[in-house]
Amino acid sequence: MKKNFQDHINDLGLWSKYKKDLCKTCEGLCCYMPVEIKIVDLIRLKILDEFHLELSAREQIKDALKHPAILRYTPSTEKFTLRQKPDGSCYFLDQNKLCTKYNNRPETCRNHPQVGPKPGFCAYMKKN
Ligand code: SF4
Ligand code: SF4
Repeated sequence: MKKNFQDHINDLGLWSKYKKDLCKTCEGLCCYMPVEIKIVDLIRLKILDEFHLELSAREQIKDALKHPAILRYTPSTEKFTLRQKPDGSCYFLDQNKLCTKYNNRPETCRNHPQVGPKPGFCAYMKKN
């Protein structure tokens, strides 16, 4: 990931109070952060099918981890982590910095930044 992106994400003191219009002029750093998701998100993203709900957690996890978008499963939180590309961007972010799964995006993305490391604030960075 670009070092300035990483530094900006990691330093919560640099985050801005979120306002909807900010996104229009932002580099979109929220799509460069690790995203944790649940089984319901996997189904909405079509990584798993509805029938997986009838399977054991072990089988759900095994099948989810076969998908290239899924990096890992964390047993203590019962959440999966989306894979980030080498530049730090989310697996689902395209070259134009648009979410290819926007209509089916995970809850974490829908709730950002109301829920997150600094609720109500985000890692806004003005586009070059
Ligand atoms: S970091 Fe903040 S301003 Fe930038 S796209 Fe994400 S929510 Fe919008
Ligand atoms: S799923 Fe979409 S909105 Fe969520 S981090 Fe990835 S690209 Fe961004």
